[in-house]
Amino acid sequence: MAATLAETASAGQMKMAESSGRGGQLAAWVTAYIGLGSNLGDRLAFLRQARFALTGQALRVTASSALYASEPVGGPVQDDYYNAVVAVTTRLSPLDLLAHCQSVEMLAGRERQQRWGARTLDLDLLLYADLELALPQLEVPHPRMHQRRFVLQPLCDLAPQLIYPRLGRALSELLVELPDTPWVRRLQSQW
Ligand code: ADP
Ligand code: MG
Repeated sequence: MAATLAETASAGQMKMAESSGRGGQLAAWVTAYIGLGSNLGDRLAFLRQARFALTGQALRVTASSALYASEPVGGPVQDDYYNAVVAVTTRLSPLDLLAHCQSVEMLAGRERQQRWGARTLDLDLLLYADLELALPQLEVPHPRMHQRRFVLQPLCDLAPQLIYPRLGRALSELLVELPDTPWVRRLQSQW
């Protein structure tokens, strides 16, 4: 997985960073990781629907983590989350991939009423090759992912050796340093 990232990152990195999100497709296929979360309604059905709806001509889901349940972090009192991470290979630019994720959230009836409030579907772009990007609407790597067990644990199912760009450390190293609370529980390997 790390080799794929290294190969694809250098070739397309400049074009990706410059992309204005106009809907063009990159020449190279890039590996990215997307975090999925749901804590409203039929949580598993929303995650399955998301994995299906993400797939298209410019994006393939190449691997899925196990399914996890997790305690909500921040925000109002709300139900536990279901979480997972998928690896994708895509020709969408980072901004186009974010827009695509948001359209899939809309398909699931996502409403943005309260920050960190309950949601049918939350899709976060965690990593995009080894790109580092800080735009008002998109920060990659996702700025809080390395502090969240509900992200790192499923991500480590797929890519424990991957180096987190900003810190230069393997994801598995970051995971072992996280506290046990808020809790995250593995539910099933297939979903
Ligand atoms: P959160 O995921 O933090 O609970 P939202 O899903 O409501 O919150 O996202 C809030 C905003 O975060 C989005 O409008 C989006 O533009 C922005 N954002 C910045 N970086 C990312 C990222 N890496 N992935 C997804 N959204 C991001
Ligand atoms: Mg989000």
